[in-house]
Amino acid sequence: MLNERMVSLGTQRSVIRELFEYGKQKIAEIGEENVYDFSLGNPSVPSPACVNETAVRLINEMDPVVLHGYTSAQGDAGVRQMIADSINARFDTSFGPDNLYMTVGAAAALCCCLNGLSCPGDEFIVFAPYFPEYKVFIEGAGASMKLIPADIENFQIDFDAFKQAINEHTKGVLVNSPNNPCGAVYSEETVKKLTAILEEKSAEYNHPIYLIADEPYREIVFEGTFVPYLPKYYKNTLVCYSWSKSLSLPGERMGYIVVPDEMDEHELVYAAIAGAGRSLGYVNAPGLFQRVCAACASETADISVYETNKNLLVSGLRDMGYHVVEPGGTFYMFPRTLIPDDVAFCERAKTDFNLLIVPGVGFGCPGHARISYCVPTERVKRSLDVFEKLAKSYQ
Ligand code: PLP
Repeated sequence: MLNERMVSLGTQRSVIRELFEYGKQKIAEIGEENVYDFSLGNPSVPSPACVNETAVRLINEMDPVVLHGYTSAQGDAGVRQMIADSINARFDTSFGPDNLYMTVGAAAALCCCLNGLSCPGDEFIVFAPYFPEYKVFIEGAGASMKLIPADIENFQIDFDAFKQAINEHTKGVLVNSPNNPCGAVYSEETVKKLTAILEEKSAEYNHPIYLIADEPYREIVFEGTFVPYLPKYYKNTLVCYSWSKSLSLPGERMGYIVVPDEMDEHELVYAAIAGAGRSLGYVNAPGLFQRVCAACASETADISVYETNKNLLVSGLRDMGYHVVEPGGTFYMFPRTLIPDDVAFCERAKTDFNLLIVPGVGFGCPGHARISYCVPTERVKRSLDVFEKLAKSYQ
């Protein structure tokens, strides 16, 4: 007898992975120039020079026993100090090393927070469209996910639906801005309304409702879009960060959690997060890349190509009649599909045009499709014709 839930998670490949595998097979059959793969969120630009330079310097200069040894479970103290300094300089905060817990990417950061906070019967609220792994992570922590339908006009928050969803079981709210899959950035107005409701409801139910801010795309924003730093608006905020996207390092699995001093019972919350990391078997985040990311914490890869791609696609698609909410950041956009059935729409795109885009239903928002434009600009340019043919096929 095996754990059925795990067997099913391990055997059902995600729709995104299925598409990506299909794309690889198609490329082998008909050539890369005839396949328009916009399925995966894998950064398409190299890491900044600082990453390799620091890694090489550390390998050449540092005592290998220390470099490759275990670090403290919460991460090397010097590393946490350097990262705290970088956050403080950018967001005018005053964190120290004890406010940081180093993790194996944002995925592990989220799992540590969710496992650390969850008690039986707890609920976490998530806003559509959402990153589908949230459901896996929340349920894996023994809690349940309550989904708030999308505000499809501008991908901010439907506050009436949100207020109605909160009850005495609400342990937390998970937000992702800039957002995968739609690229929306929550405005300061949205953040203020959201945190005012959290204050009010925490008081009403007499326990903190935590705000978990999943921020792997924080730096990837367009035209200087302002991304409010949530601990400055709400004390019971945990920030889950990752360098997977900003430094183009998804394979190195490096991120952190911020646990502010101002949070209620912050020492206990930190202990619960550390306990969750221990029970999940993370031990410590990878030592070499803790140090590399600390040294490069205030840098990014050259992410300008994402804005170039975004501009080409938004204006191109709108000219063809697609409805697109302009993304404020990330390397995703989430146009409406030209028929309500997004699965049928993406299937036609795939089989008739070799255009690989992901149906919105898996992100909790049918009638839309995700385009991941972390691809060479030349592929974006070539694809415009194909998006047009797809649109014409519905006329
Ligand atoms: N959160 C969101 C919204 C993501 O899009 C991703 C990855 O694509 C993650 C979390 C996981 O990121 P990481 O690679 O840091 O685990």
